[in-house]
Amino acid sequence: MAVQTAETAANSTDATVDLGPAAALSCRECGHKVPLGPVFACEECFGPLEIAYDFSGHDTEELRKRIEAGPANIWRYAPLLPVPADVATKPNINPGWTKLVKADNLARELGVTGGLYVKDDSGNPTHSFKDRVVAQAIEAARAFGFTTLSCSSTGNLAGAVGAAAARAGFRSCVFIPHDLEQGKVVMAAVYGGELVGIEGNYDDVNRFCSELIGDPAGEGWGFVNVNLRPYYAEGSKTLAYEICEQLGWRLPDQIVVPIASGSQLTKIDKGLKELIQLGLVEDKPYKIFGAQAEGCSPVSTAFKAGHDVVRPQKPNTIAKSLAIGNPADGPYVLDIARRTGGAVEDVTDEQVVDAIKLLARTEGIFAETAGGVTVGVTKKLIENGVLDPSLTTVVLNTGDGLKTLDAVAGTGLTATIRPNLDSFREAGLA
Ligand SMILES: *Cc1c(COP(=O)(O)O)cnc(C)c1O
Repeated sequence: MAVQTAETAANSTDATVDLGPAAALSCRECGHKVPLGPVFACEECFGPLEIAYDFSGHDTEELRKRIEAGPANIWRYAPLLPVPADVATKPNINPGWTKLVKADNLARELGVTGGLYVKDDSGNPTHSFKDRVVAQAIEAARAFGFTTLSCSSTGNLAGAVGAAAARAGFRSCVFIPHDLEQGKVVMAAVYGGELVGIEGNYDDVNRFCSELIGDPAGEGWGFVNVNLRPYYAEGSKTLAYEICEQLGWRLPDQIVVPIASGSQLTKIDKGLKELIQLGLVEDKPYKIFGAQAEGCSPVSTAFKAGHDVVRPQKPNTIAKSLAIGNPADGPYVLDIARRTGGAVEDVTDEQVVDAIKLLARTEGIFAETAGGVTVGVTKKLIENGVLDPSLTTVVLNTGDGLKTLDAVAGTGLTATIRPNLDSFREAGLA
């Protein structure tokens, strides 16, 4: 794979780019630091880069007040994100501040007594958590002077990039596996950008995008989850911030997070650590649990086997948004699950469907398959005695069931009747 360094990246000559408290890019492996730019791999060791901040000199109470007075979207946390100070005035889809639903009915079904919450990210503009990460990436793209946005996607990201690009005035050209759910394809195409189906699975799409980045054909393109990945990834921190603020500036005891590439899970951990560091929440232990579908479970397989390396798998599951067989952040997820005392678990497609229906009938929340994975894994972890039902637990629903209707295709009419009362009674509905 061609690796862009600070020297070779397009449009990275502007040394004055100001991205708020973001101070540099730092290698997650060796700690080497480079200036902010559209680069994603360390020039020393090829490890992944992430954003390092300078939070020195902050006043905790002032920061809390500023956040609480901010807009009802992710930009209330602008002081903790890699974005220009005037970000809230730019055309952006402004995701976030989604509902944290106290799920008492589901808690009763699962035997949770310590408080169970569903963080429902289906409420975002394109109905998945991906709006959070794209909203970040697009601001970085603007700062670096890109005009075309691209990505490799398992479906939701394609829609989020299409919408964000349309609103912010970028060209978009995105790549997906050719056999995704109809709802995901339409959702990605409707915003008018270019949508390309690749004959292969997500890992093939991703490999193709890496080639395109190194080729003149992709020059000057901002790939939100490749050369803009360090900025993109920071969007997931806002989930951690919102959960804690919505709990009254409190850390939950346990969080159950879905895993595709694993980026979201690692940044939720980063977000929680930052809140502790900034004094915005009281420092106490929390456990992070990762959730996968059995048909694409490279991380949970490694976790259960006690391995540090993640062996790639060929995905075969209805949870297509999570179907990444070679997850880039897999080893970091293993570290976090082990360090925090959490776990990584998987459920079958049948259990995913049962969990979608369970969440719908108990809480009135229609989740996509990824939400079925987290709810299903939560149930399994409680039954296995791994997740403590007496502790405050937050389960993520990261997408909308309307995009994965096929998963619950067996659901439908209770009866078909003629428009009169006799017919109604005959059907046994009175
Ligand atoms: C992309 C996605 C995730 C997780 O993504 P990561 O690659 O692990 O950050 C979770 N749920 C849904 C619905 C997604 O689309």
